[in-house]
Amino acid sequence: MDDKFWNYGSWKYWVLLMGKILVVAGMAWALGWWDGRLMPAPNQLLAHWSRLGTDWPYTLVMALCGLASYLLLRLALWDQKFRCRVCVRRLRLPQAEGIYSSVLLGGTPYCEYVCTWGHGKLFVPELHLASSGKPMWTGYESLWDNLLRAEEAAVEK
Ligand SMILES: [Zn+2]
Repeated sequence: MDDKFWNYGSWKYWVLLMGKILVVAGMAWALGWWDGRLMPAPNQLLAHWSRLGTDWPYTLVMALCGLASYLLLRLALWDQKFRCRVCVRRLRLPQAEGIYSSVLLGGTPYCEYVCTWGHGKLFVPELHLASSGKPMWTGYESLWDNLLRAEEAAVEK
């Protein structure tokens, strides 16, 4: 693996994402389980058939539970996108740049979010075109690393 992969996120970032996915999967399973317990049993004629597709109230509630689970998963992924890749805190201080009316002169509009603890920034393009790019995380190095590197460069001269 190259350094770029490891710079993308710390283990905390991925553990939080896996935790959110597990919670959403557990909630989806619980909703399905409750749906099976709370809905009245189908009539005896269809007792050996699967309830999904033959019992329309059960099928409707299961579809709504599936939709709610999908929306919860999307919410979890959206929230994860705006978290610091190092300390997993919410990114703050959105800074919008660029103007829609002068894309050719000033470049495409974008927004940058920063970690208030100085771990990095997230570049989010505002134009959603094929050429506008994806959100990109830029990690900052530690202040001490920069000072040590500057001291080594000064000693070498
Ligand atoms: Zn941070």
